[in-house]
Amino acid sequence: MRILFAHDLRPTKGESMISAEPFTISPDQYDAVILDLDGVITRTAAVHARAWKEMFDEYLESREESYEPLDIRSDYRKYIDGKPRYDGVQSFLESRGISLPYGSPEDSPDTETVCGLGNRKNELFREIIHRDGVEVFEDTVVFLHTARDNHMKTGVISSSKNCREILETADLLQLFDTRIDGVVSKERGIPGKPEPDVFLEAARELDTTPSRAIVFEDAIAGVQAGKDGEFGLVIGVAREGGEDRLLNNGADLTIRKFDELKISEKE
Ligand SMILES: [Mg+2]
Repeated sequence: MRILFAHDLRPTKGESMISAEPFTISPDQYDAVILDLDGVITRTAAVHARAWKEMFDEYLESREESYEPLDIRSDYRKYIDGKPRYDGVQSFLESRGISLPYGSPEDSPDTETVCGLGNRKNELFREIIHRDGVEVFEDTVVFLHTARDNHMKTGVISSSKNCREILETADLLQLFDTRIDGVVSKERGIPGKPEPDVFLEAARELDTTPSRAIVFEDAIAGVQAGKDGEFGLVIGVAREGGEDRLLNNGADLTIRKFDELKISEKE
């Protein structure tokens, strides 16, 4: 597949792309695209959110004091989205003034520790993807094929330890030259978002520099990481709107769908 493009417009940074002309990416300027998984490539963000809500609401209800249930629009985005699992647990609990022992990653899903609650969330998440499958954003898949056809390298990053399993389930594993996920990060001691290190590691594996790579992210912690890593371009993916939260935290521009982007031919 090869797409030819008439436009090479460069909108001012800090703008969203809604109803603008397509933004053109030049493979002469950028060697690689590095994409977040959840919410950018697959719709697992919604499944994660559902699993988090179910886990925390059950847990909050089991406590003696009464607490506000988790609100996906506010709490999930603010405290949990994009962070490594146990950091997400801790951050949300803090927001409710609850302090639990950290425990250990081996804790069973019914242990009342940060790790135990995180493991319960993971158990719920895996139950849901195995039952319902993984939903893929086709516009992203088309974009990835076009990038590869135009000699750009592709990387996927994720805080999720289920990243490989999710990509396999969706038959997308072969579309990526590198994968820095929760498993790889743990093995190599790479800190999670909002630190930029997962993106930096992906760029290194793709044999390029941050300034010649483009980051795609749908989470606040992710665009912050892209900005702090000084990537050439940080594109916020705001499929359901809410562009401001990404633009205000480090995105250079935002898109709702990948077909708002074009890739020019390599010279
Ligand atoms: Mg995401």
